[in-house]
Amino acid sequence: MRNEILTMNTPLISAQAIEKSYAKGQMKVPVLRGAGLTAQRGELVSVIGQSGSGKSTLLHVMGLLDSPDNGEVMLDGRRIDNLSPAARDQLRNHVFGFIFQFYHLLPELTLLENVMAPLMIRHSFLGFWRQRKQVRTQAQEILQQVGLDHRMKHRPSELSGGEMQRGAIARALIAKPEILLADEPTGNLDASTGREIMDTLIRLNEDSKLTIVMVTHDEAVAQQAHRIVRLAEGRIATLGHEEAA
Ligand code: ADP
Ligand code: MG
Repeated sequence: MRNEILTMNTPLISAQAIEKSYAKGQMKVPVLRGAGLTAQRGELVSVIGQSGSGKSTLLHVMGLLDSPDNGEVMLDGRRIDNLSPAARDQLRNHVFGFIFQFYHLLPELTLLENVMAPLMIRHSFLGFWRQRKQVRTQAQEILQQVGLDHRMKHRPSELSGGEMQRGAIARALIAKPEILLADEPTGNLDASTGREIMDTLIRLNEDSKLTIVMVTHDEAVAQQAHRIVRLAEGRIATLGHEEAA
C-alpha cells in the first residue's frame, strides 16, 4: 500500500449514493444500494469485491457508460450524469479512458491502427486525413511509453495477453483522458504479467499524474493503490490503511 497523504480538495470524480437495479423477469434485482466512490486528482484507487458485487456496474456508472437509477456522478464538483446524451458522449470520449479484462482490440487492425482508432473516429474523415501524420506520431510515442515500439505492426492475435493489455492502455491514453477506469485489468493474466500491467499503471499514475480507478477481485493487486474501497451488498465500506496493509 502506498501511503502518500493526498490533500482533500473537491474530488476529481465522485459517484454518490448510487442505486441501480436490473430487471430479472418481473423482479427488480438491486445491484447498487447507495454506493459511493471518489477519486482525488492524481489518486490511484482500487475497488475490490466479490464477483457479482456490482464493481463493473459502479465503474460504468462513474464513466457514463451506464446511468444510475438514483444518485449523482460529479466531475470536479459538477454533476455530469444528468447531462444530455451528446454532452455525456463528449465527456466519455474526452475525460475518461477505459480498459477492460479482455482488451477489446480490433482483430483486423494492427496495434498502431488500434491505438490511432479513437482519434480517427473522433475527427471527420477529412480532419483525420489532414492530421494523420500527427496522430500516427502520437500513437507511436504512446506505444513506446508502454514498451511496445517493437510490436506496432502486429495484429492482436500475434501479441501476448500482457502486450494486448498494454496496447489497450495505449489506446485509452491517446485521447489524453484525465481519468482512467480499469475493469479487472489483470484479470485474464498470470501473476507476473499482471504485475507488469500494474507497474505500467503505477508509472502512469506517478509520472503523468493520471487519476486511476481500478476494479479488481485480487487483494494483492488492490493493495498497490493509494486507497482501497470494498464493495459488498451494493455499498462501499472504506478500509483504513492499517486494515488494508
Ligand atoms: P462485478 O463486476 O462485481 O462482478 P457486475 O457489476 O458485473 O459485478 O454485476 C453485478 C450484478 O448485476 C450481477 O448479479 C450481474 O449478473 C448483474 N448484471 C450486471 N449487468 C447486468 C445487465 N446488463 N442486465 C442484468 N443484470 C446485470
Ligand atoms: Mg465485473
